[in-house]
Amino acid sequence: MIGSIAFAGRSSLLAGGHRCHGAELSSRISQPVFRTPRAPCFKRHSGRSCTVRAGELVLDRRALQTMAANRIKAELALEDLLQGNQRFQQGGLRNCVVDSRRFDELKGGQAPPAIVLSCSDSRVPPEMVMDQGMGDLFVVRVAGNVIDDNSLGSMLYAIANLGSRCVMILGHSKCGACTAAKGAFISATSGQGDVSSAGDPVSKLLSRLMDPCAKLTGRSGNGSQDLESSLGVEAIVEENSRHVAELTLQNLQENLAGNGTLAEELVVAAAKYDLDHGTVTVLEKRWIENGSVQVQ
Ligand SMILES: [Zn+2]
Repeated sequence: MIGSIAFAGRSSLLAGGHRCHGAELSSRISQPVFRTPRAPCFKRHSGRSCTVRAGELVLDRRALQTMAANRIKAELALEDLLQGNQRFQQGGLRNCVVDSRRFDELKGGQAPPAIVLSCSDSRVPPEMVMDQGMGDLFVVRVAGNVIDDNSLGSMLYAIANLGSRCVMILGHSKCGACTAAKGAFISATSGQGDVSSAGDPVSKLLSRLMDPCAKLTGRSGNGSQDLESSLGVEAIVEENSRHVAELTLQNLQENLAGNGTLAEELVVAAAKYDLDHGTVTVLEKRWIENGSVQVQ
């Protein structure tokens, strides 16, 4: 839950001149939330011991002055998902049991800080792999974590009505949908049938994964000569997450145009879950600043 991050930030909100962790802090100063180095700081500041604990999430005051408060909430929510994933990997899950007080709280409504658009794969339940409890995540699931009107409409509902500001597009290693998309792309390229022109539901879904395949083959420069080896499933998974994150922010911006600064409060992250190690990795973050898309 977001409260765990807020506590960490409150306990060690850094003044602009704080340099106890040197270059590592200053190099990340544009980020409102970051984790301090694992090594503890033994320096004294103005006669006092450093209060910044090793490996802690910290809010930076200078970043706070320059970024919209709600976008910071989105950054916090994203950090919270990654922190939950660390607990998942380390076997320290907090949210595997439904707390009765939380259960009662949620009878009155929901305010999930984050939206996750993930693949339907049974091995990647977002709540479990990022240790989130009831009411913490607004989850949209579809094979290949593709975006369509239904998934976009669901996200818009959560943003406009539930206050969600962080959006994670979560692909995963060894994705069956991306594997099928690779086969479909190779078939289409070699003139053996194009899913984009077929009308059945599976082909329609796979057709949404053709753009990432096309981008990858264009980048590799191999054309259609050796697609089998040049078009890796893991590369498709990652390209698809980035592609869907880009489309998502673009579509959200268009649909939220009449809602003041709402679109500028969002952070959309492309991420990948590794089935072998249980790790969620953020591949890319996108947000809008002064009307233009920023990518990190
Ligand atoms: Zn999948």
